[in-house]
Amino acid sequence: MSTQTLPGFDLAKVRADFPTLHQEVNGKPLVYFDNAATSQKPQLVIDRLDQYYARENSNVHRGVHTLSQQATDAYEHTRSLVQQMINAQHQHEIIYTKGTTEGINLIAFSFGQKYIKEGDEIIISTMEHHSNIVPWQLLCERTGAKLKVVPIFESGELDFEAYKNMLSEKTKLVSMVYISNSLGTINPMPEIIKLAHERDIPVLVDAAQVVPHMAVDVQELDADFMVFSGHKMFGPTGTGILYGKEKWLNDLPPWMGGGDMIKVVRFDHTTYSDLPHKFEAGTPNIAGAIGLGAGIEYINSIGYDAISAWEHELLAYGTEQLGTIPDIRFVGTAKEKASVISFLIGDIHPYDAGTILDQLGIAIRTGHHCTQPLMHHLQIPGTMRASFAFYNTKEEIDRLVEGIHRVKKMFG
Ligand code: PMP
Repeated sequence: MSTQTLPGFDLAKVRADFPTLHQEVNGKPLVYFDNAATSQKPQLVIDRLDQYYARENSNVHRGVHTLSQQATDAYEHTRSLVQQMINAQHQHEIIYTKGTTEGINLIAFSFGQKYIKEGDEIIISTMEHHSNIVPWQLLCERTGAKLKVVPIFESGELDFEAYKNMLSEKTKLVSMVYISNSLGTINPMPEIIKLAHERDIPVLVDAAQVVPHMAVDVQELDADFMVFSGHKMFGPTGTGILYGKEKWLNDLPPWMGGGDMIKVVRFDHTTYSDLPHKFEAGTPNIAGAIGLGAGIEYINSIGYDAISAWEHELLAYGTEQLGTIPDIRFVGTAKEKASVISFLIGDIHPYDAGTILDQLGIAIRTGHHCTQPLMHHLQIPGTMRASFAFYNTKEEIDRLVEGIHRVKKMFG
């Protein structure tokens, strides 16, 4: 176990909370560096799911009976934890989704239906995840609107001047990633939003890679919409959040119809529930939301300051140690970066390297990371990506470096 840590941060204790980390994969102790894809879950989250299904299972918002009321309270408690975590003004600005993807699709559908018409423009960037490209393409196909893509520099930083020049009276929405899952770039989101707001253009923030790593204050940021995934922030799969300013969420039409999202249903007309239920049709992922609450309480118990500080240390150490490998090429060298390191080694195909590393018990991600247009722009087939969480250690980084030397011997 690592002795290298930061004052006030008990890495050994933190690691003990994550059962998945303590196993052998292919006969070697697991090194889990695929956190940008999904994070591991602390025992507390696993126990909370178990407790719900074993003793509390019931539907929400429907029954007067005790179990239903308890489930509803627990389900709504997570909503208040999310509200506090991102400092939303109102609890009803927090909408449950099944992930970042669903949140973006919801806005593309709902905002698109009300506000987008032929000739309008939606701005995204070159480094977007497919989930922040395809829903807008579908909207453009439906309406005749145009997708505009902000270019990036070699370093993986956004060309801010180009963004500035792209904004026009035709722009109806900016939808942009805050932290790139492929490059680690932290985009200047406060400035991006400020500039758009000068023209009264709303902004959707893809915060999938932000919320697991650093504190976000939606009021300070002045985001109109912000989306993220619960499974990347130590919660269960199938959970996510759409934050929207009250004025927008009240203004937009619902996107899915069904139970729970209605006030009165008649065959000739229907009225809709108030927020947040207007956007939550059908029986939701109750267990997932309750488990997500446990995940947020876990993050709170460690604190974003400690999380960000340790991950920053891992990023610096990883960049330095990997940098000693001959033929390494870092993909994404922005000044402001989160704990994601994408790289290539000479001509070695990322898939081959990933397969050998897996034999050594090291889980990294290889490929296009759901950012094919970015890879196409960079003219590479994909990258190897090590993404760290606060439970990772410097010794694990040393094992990755050793592993890459093995890969080089075999393929170099
Ligand atoms: N945006 C970014 C930046 C991501 O990293 C991801 C997940 N890799 C997504 C969107 C999509 O998230 P999900 O699959 O949880 O909906």
